[in-house]
Amino acid sequence: MSDSPVWHPFTQHGLGEPIPLVVRGEGAVLHTADGRRIVDAISSWWVTTHGHNHPRIVAAIREQAERLDQVIFAGWTHEPAETLARGLTAIMPAELTRVFFSDSGSTSVEVALKMALGYWHARGEPRHRLLVLEHSYHGDTIGAMSVGQRGVFNRPYAPLLFDVETIPFPHPGREQATLDALERACQSDAAAFIVEPLVLGAGGMLIYPPHVLAEMAAICAAAGVLFIADEVMTGWGRTGTLLACEQAGVVPDILCLSKGLTGGSLPLAVTMAREPLFAAHYDTDRARMFFHSSSYTANPIACAAANANLAIWRDEPVQTRIATLAAWQADHLATLATHPGITGARALGTIAAVELGAAGGYLSSLGPTLLAFFASRDLLVRPLGNTVYVMPPYGIEPDDLGRIWSAIAEAADLYVL
Ligand SMILES: *Cc1c(COP(=O)(O)O)cnc(C)c1O
Repeated sequence: MSDSPVWHPFTQHGLGEPIPLVVRGEGAVLHTADGRRIVDAISSWWVTTHGHNHPRIVAAIREQAERLDQVIFAGWTHEPAETLARGLTAIMPAELTRVFFSDSGSTSVEVALKMALGYWHARGEPRHRLLVLEHSYHGDTIGAMSVGQRGVFNRPYAPLLFDVETIPFPHPGREQATLDALERACQSDAAAFIVEPLVLGAGGMLIYPPHVLAEMAAICAAAGVLFIADEVMTGWGRTGTLLACEQAGVVPDILCLSKGLTGGSLPLAVTMAREPLFAAHYDTDRARMFFHSSSYTANPIACAAANANLAIWRDEPVQTRIATLAAWQADHLATLATHPGITGARALGTIAAVELGAAGGYLSSLGPTLLAFFASRDLLVRPLGNTVYVMPPYGIEPDDLGRIWSAIAEAADLYVL
């Protein structure tokens, strides 16, 4: 047993796996205390967009920390939050007129669900049934787990999770079944449908086409069911566009953003909403306000980091970097797709994934072996079971990306064939 008191997330301490001590980050590279140079192939769990320690984000954090560290946000405001809310309404779809702050992807989902239920409550039409897509992941708090896939991750808490209606995932060739199921579920007073647009991340980088997303949104719109897009992972360019919804021409009623909102530097989230959601809570009656807050709502330093991220999106060739990375990813994937140990090669924007051998679920015995193998190659790659994916910061050097893909081919040679 290690002598550290730290209890790590999603880590089985009983396996005694080494836990590297990271001391510095730069671009797509992490440096450890023992002098290793690690290539971050997963953007430190999908958060780092431009690269670690982007100088403009670091400078914004430093400047804001010297001015105002934190202030209550209930009934008070500050310049970084005001600037950020305006920046977000300018860059996101025009229909999303309201910005509610919180601190993590999970919380942004909780807020979205509460907004949706509050909306129906205020209209005197108390709908509370939630529709979800099979294999979804929306976070690890109780509400977010409730709308996510049930499995080994949440079995001990199952008695606390509320009931939802699950729509089958639109596997290729079975899209119509998904749309039919959604149409049926929308008939009977559903409150909202929550989806990860185009890519289900933690569910195994499962990709589905834009036309299915567009049709799902249209079905909800026709039935008056609120459409919640959880773009916590897909937002900020991951799928090739600022939002994945863009590729389907979809504007959700409620949009969840976090991870890349600060470029991956500090915890912050927003739940953006169309005006009717806000209007439903707007009244002189204090009993009708939106009852949600956390201590650090809209922390000024985190907002300053997000403002720097927005400035980077405005002034730097971010879209070009994303397109370049997407092209490199597609090339590597095409090369590897013919490898006999590899199946299910797929990509969308900057995200690329393959299966090593046959699928085996998250607790596949190959998991720990692969983790150790990639660590031995100084790579931060964290397979989801047999699914190995590459989702690096946009500024990754081509040589470093090449090293990641060579190691994946080597892993397929070693452990599958
Ligand atoms: C990571 C993730 C979340 C949860 O975000 P946290 O910041 O880890 O709470 C929610 N939804 C999706 C789609 C995610 O990928």
